[in-house]
Amino acid sequence: MEADAPGPFAFPAHSGCGRRDLLLAGLAGAAGLLGLGGCRSAPREKPPGAAAGPGRAEVEALLEARSRAVLEHDAARFLATVHSDEPGFRARQEELFTALSRLPFAMWREHVTQVEGPLATLRLAYRYRGFDTGDVVLTTYLELGRADGGWLFTGDGGDKEDAPESWADPDVRAVRGESCLVVGRGPLEQVADRLDRCVPAVTAVVGSGWARRAVALLPGDADRAEALAGGRPLEGIAAAPTATPNADGSRGQDRILVSPEGWPRLNALGRRVVLTHELTHVAMGSAGDDRTPMWLVEGFADHVAYRDTGTPPAAAARELAEEVARGELPGGLPSRADFATGAPRLSQAYQEAWLACRMVAGRYGEDRLLRLYREAGRRSEREALHEVLGVTDLTGPWRAYLREELG
Ligand SMILES: [Zn+2]
Repeated sequence: MEADAPGPFAFPAHSGCGRRDLLLAGLAGAAGLLGLGGCRSAPREKPPGAAAGPGRAEVEALLEARSRAVLEHDAARFLATVHSDEPGFRARQEELFTALSRLPFAMWREHVTQVEGPLATLRLAYRYRGFDTGDVVLTTYLELGRADGGWLFTGDGGDKEDAPESWADPDVRAVRGESCLVVGRGPLEQVADRLDRCVPAVTAVVGSGWARRAVALLPGDADRAEALAGGRPLEGIAAAPTATPNADGSRGQDRILVSPEGWPRLNALGRRVVLTHELTHVAMGSAGDDRTPMWLVEGFADHVAYRDTGTPPAAAARELAEEVARGELPGGLPSRADFATGAPRLSQAYQEAWLACRMVAGRYGEDRLLRLYREAGRRSEREALHEVLGVTDLTGPWRAYLREELG
């Protein structure tokens, strides 16, 4: 059951991700912006002789045992790498292991990248089983100390923050839907159920040449959501498409980040529209696309999202309809800047983009709208319009369409 919210478009005014910078930057730069744990060990004075830390091979051997323990759900082996003289750290590591053991990893492997005294900088790579087709790569830190017979882990990285991940929340869990994996805390089943029902709606428009599955994150609170969004507040948006911030600069995996504050405020229609919109971005690879014009990226996602809802344009595009009713027609299709965070007519930009795509789909057919999207990612907008629709500018017909649909 999905909870009621006050009206389908009460939140957000536009349906989708709302912020292009999130779309483009994904989670990049997230590390270090926000400490999630709140319980990390304080930076310590290095004891005399600390420079003589463990050798790389010793750290690597510990990491291999730890990584295997995560995949084999072997708590004893995992904790055998942790020094018994550090009860606080040991308790946090137990918590971490429990969180990790609830997540379906196909792969989870830490490697050492650098050892400086007692501090090891690590490269953690993981994949969720059945979903990730490439590695997600994070930078994390652990400190080591001498124990009988070698070295063991004794602390977090002190003032070095791990890249944020869902398992920083000790209460994290995962729900596997038919076509989705939802990781986080709260109504995960609700999100999974809704996402499963959105997948065929996206495939009906874009075809079956995409993964037809997705990973969504529903963090437990706004701070965790902000950390996963690269330190940007999610205030005012219900969900955002992101790509994981691979520490090695490679392309990460798509994630749909659902706002824990926005989700409960949406009613059933709002949830359907928001998740279909985000899933369309996943299907079209929007998180790695900075070429396709924004009006096509966002308008297409809203076209798919609203397509079978029977929502009248004047209801879904209320702000724009009010302007048109006052005789204020926009001069041209919304630019990239019109979709920027804090843009004064952000809602209207989404509505303008949606109606442009709706018009193209209605007059030329959805196949040609899809072709236009793909062509416009490869060549200039003008060339794509000419090639696919036989026109070079949509402004005139689109303004007339706004007057017809909203006037
Ligand atoms: Zn969007």
